[in-house]
Amino acid sequence: MKFTVVGAGAMGLRYGVLLQEAGNEVEFVDAWEPHVNKMKENGGVYVTRDRQNRHLVPVKVYTPEEYTNTDADVLIFFLKQMQLADMLERCKHFFTPDQYVLTGMNGMGHVEKLLNYFDGSKLIAGTALIATILKAPGEVDFVGKVGAGSMNLANYTEEPDEMTHKVVAELAKANINPTLTTNFQGTLMAKVVFNSVVNTLCTLFEITMGEYAAFEKADELSLALINEAYDVCERAGVKMLNSRQEELDTVNYVSKVANPLHYPSMYQDMSKNRPTEVDYINGYLVDLGRKYNYEAHTHAFLTNLVHLAEHTRQQRQN
Ligand code: NAD
Repeated sequence: MKFTVVGAGAMGLRYGVLLQEAGNEVEFVDAWEPHVNKMKENGGVYVTRDRQNRHLVPVKVYTPEEYTNTDADVLIFFLKQMQLADMLERCKHFFTPDQYVLTGMNGMGHVEKLLNYFDGSKLIAGTALIATILKAPGEVDFVGKVGAGSMNLANYTEEPDEMTHKVVAELAKANINPTLTTNFQGTLMAKVVFNSVVNTLCTLFEITMGEYAAFEKADELSLALINEAYDVCERAGVKMLNSRQEELDTVNYVSKVANPLHYPSMYQDMSKNRPTEVDYINGYLVDLGRKYNYEAHTHAFLTNLVHLAEHTRQQRQN
């Protein structure tokens, strides 16, 4: 199968390199020029796993304007939410109506934007439970052992077709451990709710997921956010995959057992003085609630706190 990965950041490289190593043809399109130039100069990307075994993986990488191939079976989108609209405009010359689209971006907002360019029958979206760090231009660290991490995904139509099963089979061969569901909104929102707790609080307090979960009042904090998020989702008619208690159990399992030493990706953005995706996570829940006359006060407060932290860091830099 041929994949074009749009967004060769941490996750785009992780998916693209693993799919390439599993025998697929993969090309990368990226707009961050220092990164694209470094990979071209080196003839590939330097990959480490848990900061060990640095080695060069050859990759074909292009800027959006350089790339003209229209023969990919699947386009994979891995960008930060606020980069997507601009990137879709810059890349639309290589989109065709037959191509499938796969994305595992965090937050919400991307689905509507992708549907402006692709038919819903071609859209597969999911959530990636895999941690990856873009350390510097041309340098990526895959967190976790070979086969670590997993993803949940669903068709926008909620009706998996033959091509979806082929994509899932390639993801499985690439050790990405996919689980296909038939609940589109519920699958995406499970991760939004998880991130609205763990990413946001760990980022604000500059702590690992394990440090958060070890705090004696962590369950109280988590439940306040989970309950509010579920109140929003219930009003919006989203059929959640998990109960509130199961969502809390997932927060605790992932934070205490699976990734206790990990700083969530939102923290990585904050620490590099890049804008965070909080408006697409906690902020998305606030906006969705307001459509149904429900005020998600705690998520609104946290969204503002993250912006205050971003603003403070920017001010200190200047
Ligand atoms: P990323 O920031 O590594 O890359 C996204 C884009 O930003 C790429 O085009 C990259 O080249 C560009 N970029 C990176 N650093 C830049 C800089 N300093 N200046 C300008 N451009 C820069 O993002 P990612 O971690 O791959 O995340 C993509 C999506 O996947 C997001 O929605 C994220 O929340 C989600 N996600 C990430 C992880 C993770 O562990 N990284 C896990 C699950 C989901």
